[in-house]
Amino acid sequence: MPLATASSLPRIALVGTGGTIAGAGVAEAGAPSAAYRAAVVSAADLVAAVPGLGLLAELHAEQLLQIDSVDFTDALLLRLARRVAELCAQPDVDGVVVTHGTDTLEETAYFLHLTVPSAKPIVLTGAMRPGTALAADGPANLLQAVAVAAHPSSGGRGVLVVMNEDIHSARDVAKVHALHVNAFASPHGALGLVLEGAPRWYRAVTRPHTTHSQFDAGALDALPLVGVVTSHGNQRPEPYQAWAAAGARAIVHAGFGGGTVPQSLRPVFEGLRARGVHLVRASRVGAGPVIRNASFDDDALDSVVCDDQNPPRARLLAALALTRVSDAAALQQVFWTY
Ligand code: ASP
Repeated sequence: MPLATASSLPRIALVGTGGTIAGAGVAEAGAPSAAYRAAVVSAADLVAAVPGLGLLAELHAEQLLQIDSVDFTDALLLRLARRVAELCAQPDVDGVVVTHGTDTLEETAYFLHLTVPSAKPIVLTGAMRPGTALAADGPANLLQAVAVAAHPSSGGRGVLVVMNEDIHSARDVAKVHALHVNAFASPHGALGLVLEGAPRWYRAVTRPHTTHSQFDAGALDALPLVGVVTSHGNQRPEPYQAWAAAGARAIVHAGFGGGTVPQSLRPVFEGLRARGVHLVRASRVGAGPVIRNASFDDDALDSVVCDDQNPPRARLLAALALTRVSDAAALQQVFWTY
């Protein structure tokens, strides 16, 4: 549907998907901060609750989903990516803001970064506190997300995440704190920040995204199954075998430090690889690259390293890659590229 507008303000489509930013809490004094329900306030009401938004942009809000982001599935990710791509293709849309729960925000942002072929600004935001909390962070985050999406300098930078006045690249950002409003960080630093209502940029990502990505949500019906197994002491083979039995085409091993693998798992990995299951070595640490053939013979085992991607994003990249390639060398190349 075209966004009819008579003003000269940038036209921003706002897609609501739920999360704490659309949450409402228990009003009694002394109620614990966790006593709220995510995904109950409509996208239109979120917009109406933020004075000043109308000065930044002509906003058109739609409610695509109303869920806690922990309930995102690959099918919903694809649905959202297709809708964002459709909106970006409309000549009367200058940018898109997606409101989203913070728990899986980094995964959705990365998926859109790789699969929406548009140079228009696409900005995700959320909140750590529901709108009914004292010092709720959602209204300011939404205002800043719209300010970034509406700004002419924001296009062509890939999908952006605006939280707590920082502008992060979807390639790098992760939720790193369970409660604080400054819960998001990027290992290589944020791209910039929102200063007096406008973005100020300090860096850019060098890896391909959006218009230069080989993946396109419009061409995908489903994603191959890829699982993640996180390392801990006394590691056992069963989770890996269960993923393989469920039909996983790849398993991301979120190993210790440099993606290390306990001796006891090496024959297990060999057996899985012989069955055609790819193994992608990542790290549970949350930052830093995993080095190929260091501490583990990737060449001999035909395994892949994730470069510097965290395990949830490595899952998505492996799944996207496996829609195009099937051998480990080509899968590795995708990780070096993105
Ligand atoms: N569980 C919520 C969600 O991800 C948390 C949040 O939004 O902060 O939807």
